[in-house]
Amino acid sequence: MFVGHYGVAFALKSEKNKIPLWVLFVAVQFLDYIWATLVLLGIEKLRVIKGFTAGSMLDSYFHPYSHSLIAAFIWSCVGALAYKSLCSRLRYPCTRSAVLIVGLAVFSHWLLDLIAHPRDLAIYDNTWKVGFGLWNYRDPEFGLEIGLLGVGILLYLKRNAMPALRKGAVIAFGVALVVIQIGDTYVTRNPLTDKQTVMGVWIFYTLFVVVAFFIEKIGSPRQTNAS
Ligand SMILES: [Zn+2]
Repeated sequence: MFVGHYGVAFALKSEKNKIPLWVLFVAVQFLDYIWATLVLLGIEKLRVIKGFTAGSMLDSYFHPYSHSLIAAFIWSCVGALAYKSLCSRLRYPCTRSAVLIVGLAVFSHWLLDLIAHPRDLAIYDNTWKVGFGLWNYRDPEFGLEIGLLGVGILLYLKRNAMPALRKGAVIAFGVALVVIQIGDTYVTRNPLTDKQTVMGVWIFYTLFVVVAFFIEKIGSPRQTNAS
């Protein structure tokens, strides 16, 4: 699962909770940030194999610390607590429901991965592996990614007041994510190494976070230091 995760981030943001979109962008990919870091450190293991599944080259045969169900639950708590400790300093909404939503956003990653991944998601440690394997069916998996993203963006546009310029930017961002997903799913390429792959994850995911940050600056009232 790739851009589908961002559908959840868009869908969770509302005028009511006012959680910054960039925070939700980090949250929905929090497990992959942990994973990419642990693969870089040689702690979790990844093989990149051409044609491993129809829709993905990733053979994540050892990722218990980032992607087991128990780990996902623990990281969701860590993500929620991290937000809780930072929100007042950053002047972001600090309500109990905002903290809970951030935790849910982190956990949503595992649920969506469960649909896409072949049986490589452990329940705990590296055993009892599950995964519905939608990646074995390229078009349906692609359809799900785009469907989730589309519904998420529609909800975001509906539930948040914003100027037309930001609306346009959000739609353009959505189109860019679709193009990136087309490239990821359908363009055949030679597999990168495991380390190159997860470096790409870090770079691209962070780029999307930066875009999400600036998109919400469009047309928002400037904060001044005058008090
Ligand atoms: Zn993942």
